[in-house]
Amino acid sequence: MTIRTRFAPSPTGNVHIGNIRAAIYNWLFSRHGGGEFLLRIEDTDLERSTPAAVKTVLDSLAWLGLTYDGEPLYQSTQKARHLEVAEMLLSKGAAYKEDKGGTGKGECIIFKMPGKDISFHDEVKGDLSKKAEDLKDFVIVRSDGSPVFHLGNVVDDITMGITHVIRGDDHVENTFKHMAMYEAIGAPAPKFAHLPMIVNAQGKPYSKRDGAAYVGEFQEKGFLPEALFNSLALLGWSPGDDREVMTREEMVAAFTLDRVRSAPSQLDMTKLLWMNGEHLKRHGPDEIVAGCRAAMQRQGRWRDGIDPAYFRAVVACMGERVRLYGDVGEQAAFFFDDEFPYDEKSVKKRLLKEGAIGILREELAALEAVEPFTAAATDAALHALGERTGRQMGDLVHPVRVAVSGTGVGPGLFDMLATMGKERVVRRIRRTLSIYGG
Ligand code: GLU
Repeated sequence: MTIRTRFAPSPTGNVHIGNIRAAIYNWLFSRHGGGEFLLRIEDTDLERSTPAAVKTVLDSLAWLGLTYDGEPLYQSTQKARHLEVAEMLLSKGAAYKEDKGGTGKGECIIFKMPGKDISFHDEVKGDLSKKAEDLKDFVIVRSDGSPVFHLGNVVDDITMGITHVIRGDDHVENTFKHMAMYEAIGAPAPKFAHLPMIVNAQGKPYSKRDGAAYVGEFQEKGFLPEALFNSLALLGWSPGDDREVMTREEMVAAFTLDRVRSAPSQLDMTKLLWMNGEHLKRHGPDEIVAGCRAAMQRQGRWRDGIDPAYFRAVVACMGERVRLYGDVGEQAAFFFDDEFPYDEKSVKKRLLKEGAIGILREELAALEAVEPFTAAATDAALHALGERTGRQMGDLVHPVRVAVSGTGVGPGLFDMLATMGKERVVRRIRRTLSIYGG
């Protein structure tokens, strides 16, 4: 049997990471088994399923490299088939018509539950069953003639020859209904695997308030698609050894449903950033520089006057501090602007402290004499100054850092000074002295 999975999103304009994780698992599972991964757009809610909303789904799939086989099936094109099956169920006595609530709006078609317990084996959750008395008849065609989700979902899975339905566990309850429908239709049911919910640190469903919740938001923040892919794949699945940073091919090779956990998976932004940094290390310097530059452009922080060689040097100086492409623009903007803002707290703590301005004046003189202006040479010059004046390095490094960057945090001071170059460093210390030097 050829494995056939599908991703069946209802386009809403945003693709939640819980949904895209389902797509990732379907993709990994089918690719692992040499099968097919299909796409079905459940676009029956015509108000929400606009062309733009559909495009968002397609863009997210493309960005993450979730290639699908064949053309997408648009559920709205299958209406005639859905109604045909509803008629067939009516004629078999597995469904009946009713004017629900007696509104006079016309009759719905209602699926009749078979009056027996229903059970199925879930590839993740094990054997699940539900008592007959807890299973109620339900509408499959509304009084306006439109098919309901359950009908379209089941009929389309049959039409597409889906062998495995891998989806969020918010659909477990539906699956009891769907099992009854497969039986009534006379089609073999696919295997089901219901994935655990993605939760935040408090164990609540992960939402936009917890950071980013939509694929597009991660993209905007500058995440690498392979890092988001890898992180989401590990939310509920593990390869069975201690590997975490994995390529797509490694995940395809290792992916099996029996390694999917049933407990909720907690998404941790810190871990995600770490993962992104790890994947970033696998990229060449040119690619990293281009990515950081593109992110700065998106942030509106790029200026045409920025010298490419200097930009490259800054990215290298930031090194592993860059975990996201956007980090350069966000944490290192001061490199590119001599009029950088000063962080009030750092100024208070490092520059307005007793004696700090005097130290900064001495440092300016010491640094002006350094030639060539390398990291090692600036380091040596400040050490010599410390020895000469009997001061600790701690008293020396902080004022100069704030004086050239406006902040107390950043890359290693001497690397930073060498990257900036003597002229820029001197100019910046003078500016700081003119502002805070009294
Ligand atoms: N459109 C449904 C959803 O996005 C599909 C569920 C399924 O995969 O069967 O929740």
